[in-house]
Amino acid sequence: MTKHYDYFVIGAGSGGTRSARIAGSHGAKVGIAEGSDLGGTCVNLGCIPKKLLAYGADYGFHLDDARGFGWDIPHDITLDWKKLIENKNKEISRLNGIYQTLLDNTGVELTNGFASFEDANTLSIDGQSVTADNILIAVGGTPRRPKFEGGELMATSDEVFHWPDQPKNVVIQGGGYIAVEFAHIFHGLGAHVTLLYRGELFLRGFDRDISAALAEEMRKPGIDLRFNTDVTKVEKNGDQYAVHTSTGETLECDLPIAAIGRDPNISSLNLEKAGVELAPNGQIAINDQYQTSAPHIYALGDVASRAQLTPVAIQEGHLLADRLFADMPDRSVSYDNIATAIFSAPPIGTVGLSEEAALEAGFEIDVYNSGFQPLKHKLSGRDEKTLMKLIVDTKTDKVIGAHMMGMDAPEILQGVAIAMNMGATKADFDRTMAIHPTSAEEFVLMRTKRSN
Ligand code: NDP
Repeated sequence: MTKHYDYFVIGAGSGGTRSARIAGSHGAKVGIAEGSDLGGTCVNLGCIPKKLLAYGADYGFHLDDARGFGWDIPHDITLDWKKLIENKNKEISRLNGIYQTLLDNTGVELTNGFASFEDANTLSIDGQSVTADNILIAVGGTPRRPKFEGGELMATSDEVFHWPDQPKNVVIQGGGYIAVEFAHIFHGLGAHVTLLYRGELFLRGFDRDISAALAEEMRKPGIDLRFNTDVTKVEKNGDQYAVHTSTGETLECDLPIAAIGRDPNISSLNLEKAGVELAPNGQIAINDQYQTSAPHIYALGDVASRAQLTPVAIQEGHLLADRLFADMPDRSVSYDNIATAIFSAPPIGTVGLSEEAALEAGFEIDVYNSGFQPLKHKLSGRDEKTLMKLIVDTKTDKVIGAHMMGMDAPEILQGVAIAMNMGATKADFDRTMAIHPTSAEEFVLMRTKRSN
């Protein structure tokens, strides 16, 4: 018998699960389909395993640092890769279980399988039909695969987290979030890492001073960053790979990674049968109510959103469920000042406009910056700098950009983002008492405008 739902969600990732369980808690009859592990990209193949492996990579640095504080750490310590992956997998399984509990506790019925449209109200999930008054597409994205010869030999973030053996030599294509974070992870875990980026400076769109400072810091311990260089061909010889570059070189490695963006995961949805249209960029086209071209079918998260970030998908999913099933039509998601982080070494935290974006948007700006070696590294001996930067609108005194590369930057920038969303001015920052001694205090102590 075909089951009928008030709300059927395709995809139990961050946005879909939140939306389904909130709708369930409002009393709607809700179903959800998931063909893979619960939790989607973030839990299984993204944020969480990435952060766990980044913690693992950080330990290499911390152990080194400890010697400057008197700890006698032997120099022949080794990493047990299989144990790291096994422990990471255990944590992911625990989270999968929590997602199941969240759905169960709100009465959401899970169907295991990939859904595709039969018509605008009917879905087929591995041959089983369900119908629904409202449908949410929250299927996320999938790593983009390179198109050059041998591109299919490259691993992506889908494969890397389960790589069976500890890689010794890694070549990464790309210069965005994933490429930079993987460069830190594999370098920190003991591999030689080469990152190839096609443009002149990686992390395009980030404040250029911050990107340039990170490039300098990543090079210091030996990560080989090569800009204006791309991959042209990959070959496999046994368990080794030959990566050919646009500059005519051939790099040998045991793990070639492509991190060149993600595409919406829509190929098997049969969207045309439901009258759901795509935007020019290939994502599902939506209006500001998350409605697709079929008004009772909604889409959010990476498959449709302009910001491919877990917290954005979660807020979108929550809001949609409130709007549809709790009569809260006025709630909206704020896309202003979305803070993000790169978990590199040192990490980056950033919120608001870069200096370049502020100038391009026509702001007259004052720039404040502060570069220093953190107190911890006076003893650790680690040659690692911190750079902090504030962009202030000269006319209103409002802080419109805050950027940091340095220890704890992601933790620090979350609070700064709240201040900016409240409209904080530079004068508000200045009258805020410092927490001493911290790096964060520099955000309230910068007094001198950059002269140029
Ligand atoms: P990004 O869009 O961040 O970066 C893609 C990179 O690949 C860019 O450097 C881009 O270069 C380059 N590139 C794109 N196409 C090609 C090509 N055909 N050949 C060579 N290089 C190419 O994507 P990621 O894959 O790094 O991450 C995907 C998304 O996941 C991000 O947008 C982010 O929203 C999310 N994410 C967030 C994280 C976080 O919050 N910490 C961590 C990881 C992912 P160019 O700049 O020249 O276009």
